[in-house]
Amino acid sequence: MASKRKHSKVWNFFDSVDEKSAKCKYCKTVLSVAGGSQGNLSRHLKNKHPAALEETKRQTNESRQEANTPEKIDRQLVRMIAKGHHALRIVEEPDFKQLIDDVSNCPGYKMPTRKTLSNVLLPKLRDEIVGSVKEKMELASAVCLTTDCWTSLANESYIAVTAHFIESEATVMSCQCH
Ligand SMILES: [Zn+2]
Repeated sequence: MASKRKHSKVWNFFDSVDEKSAKCKYCKTVLSVAGGSQGNLSRHLKNKHPAALEETKRQTNESRQEANTPEKIDRQLVRMIAKGHHALRIVEEPDFKQLIDDVSNCPGYKMPTRKTLSNVLLPKLRDEIVGSVKEKMELASAVCLTTDCWTSLANESYIAVTAHFIESEATVMSCQCH
């Protein structure tokens, strides 16, 4: 128990009074730690000194960031590939490389949640792309359409429409909608 006491971060905020109690360094309140429980110490910090707790968390994060090395980041990359069953070619994907570059130039970047991704970010990108394809298509002198129909296992009917057109001398655009 003694070693656990020393290592728990919560003890940065308290002085041990005796085996059963601890005194808060900020407001001098004495709290019970009977039975080795530190739950009420954490609760006290959360309720009475949230700013001090936040500051400590921020400092911990900063020192964690400073400790990052290329070796550590490589290791995390390999872990991500192995645990998520990603293809090794992920390191050759231009968009993934761009993401890594962008994140390195944006300290403090926070990843969006899955919900934000699905409800906000994906529809936004979709609208942007549809808009730009429409603009290009308006300029086409001719469009070639191909269709394909099928029924899914769940008995839903689908039709896919693919449009091909020449965008400029060199590129043929192909867009498909389902
Ligand atoms: Zn206190």
